[in-house]
Amino acid sequence: MFSKKTSNMISFDYSGKRIPIIAGNWKLHKTYAESVQVAQRIVDLIDREYKDIADIVICPSFTALRGVTNVVAFDHSFVQVGAQDCYWEDEGAFTGEVSVSQIKDLECGWCIIGHSERRELFGETSADVAHKCAALLAHDIKPMLCVGEPLAVYEEDKTIEFVVDELKASLEGVPAQAKGIVIAYEPIWAIGTGLTSSPEHAQKVAAAIRGALKELWGEAAADASRVLYGGSVRPGNVNLFTSCEDIDGVLVGGASLEAESFIDLVKGVFNA
Ligand code: PEP
Repeated sequence: MFSKKTSNMISFDYSGKRIPIIAGNWKLHKTYAESVQVAQRIVDLIDREYKDIADIVICPSFTALRGVTNVVAFDHSFVQVGAQDCYWEDEGAFTGEVSVSQIKDLECGWCIIGHSERRELFGETSADVAHKCAALLAHDIKPMLCVGEPLAVYEEDKTIEFVVDELKASLEGVPAQAKGIVIAYEPIWAIGTGLTSSPEHAQKVAAAIRGALKELWGEAAADASRVLYGGSVRPGNVNLFTSCEDIDGVLVGGASLEAESFIDLVKGVFNA
């Protein structure tokens, strides 16, 4: 079933073998009960054959994190759980924020940072993202750091410069990651719009991201890093992206909200 392990499977896990990531970002969707229900269904439906060959990550709202990590723990599932954001200070007078240590306390192993919705709607800067990234790494939580260009930049054919600049600014002061890091390339114009980047464009940007990581941290760190594509990924198109040489998985919004669709995405990576 998994004999088609082509170059799209070259993703490093922390033991040195690169495996793909399929991550679901549930954004501001679902009540606590709905989140637990969908998580339970994913845990029930997911084939255990994927256990060592993919990182499967679901990212519910903060309010549902404990419920979802309980589902995963109770079933001893290999499905992993991530938060959608964090704050870099451990504690203090920061009303409304949720710290990295609070996320860790809930047994979340991952955290999305720098999503374009946070950057565009909530004024998050690349400097903020860099603080979050450093804090996550210091607590041994894997960041999924998002970068991506707006439509005007894409239309001007300035994507590579924009994304590389945004990436470097979002990693300013972050110590070199010998074991790799996860960067999600998400063109803003493709998020939730039904428009997707062409695989060729996504591959070009992913290669540039890896090149920038090489410049920052050296070849080994760049090779160990995983680059995801995000933007209207569906079960029917997921493999177009994951079969690109420098794309090591996907970050998915809409198509991750239902268990069946999320499972089909995972299958789509392996069964093309
Ligand atoms: C996202 O929210 O990161 C995303 C890629 O959304 P969608 O898959 O719905 O475009």
